[in-house]
Amino acid sequence: MAAKLYKEAHKPLPDITDMTRPFWTAAKNGKLVLQKCQRCATFNFHPKPWCIECGSRELVWTDARPFGVVYSHTVSRTVAMNHKGWEPELPVLMCLVDLDDGARMYGQVTHCSAEDLRIGMRVEAYFEAISEEAGIPKFRPSTQAPAPRAPLPHLP
Ligand SMILES: [Zn+2]
Repeated sequence: MAAKLYKEAHKPLPDITDMTRPFWTAAKNGKLVLQKCQRCATFNFHPKPWCIECGSRELVWTDARPFGVVYSHTVSRTVAMNHKGWEPELPVLMCLVDLDDGARMYGQVTHCSAEDLRIGMRVEAYFEAISEEAGIPKFRPSTQAPAPRAPLPHLP
């Protein structure tokens, strides 16, 4: 059975703007895309008009590997984001994930108990439709080994 879309589940929907739309659309299609700086190769999250590393505005939406490790986490046991829609999922595990491609993003971790959740845990993204036009990446434990990080290009 397909998961309920967020509106039916009484969960808040994101305010989608021209700047963020590619992220939501890709997630709806089962892909993780992030803005990648064409000058210094940094992946940016969340979407913004300039690179967080070098300030360049040459950002291109690029496929990012949907793997990373838990950097930090919190566990909501009684309420999640002040929305009743999450009550059936309590406890809700919210994490900061350091992606293999370098960006740090936040997301919900599922398929894992609060007791088993660990900093440094390897996770992989999967995608859930939340509306007709958007999906959201969520994370679950992964056994895939970390990929070596590509070297940064030489800056002039
Ligand atoms: Zn840059």
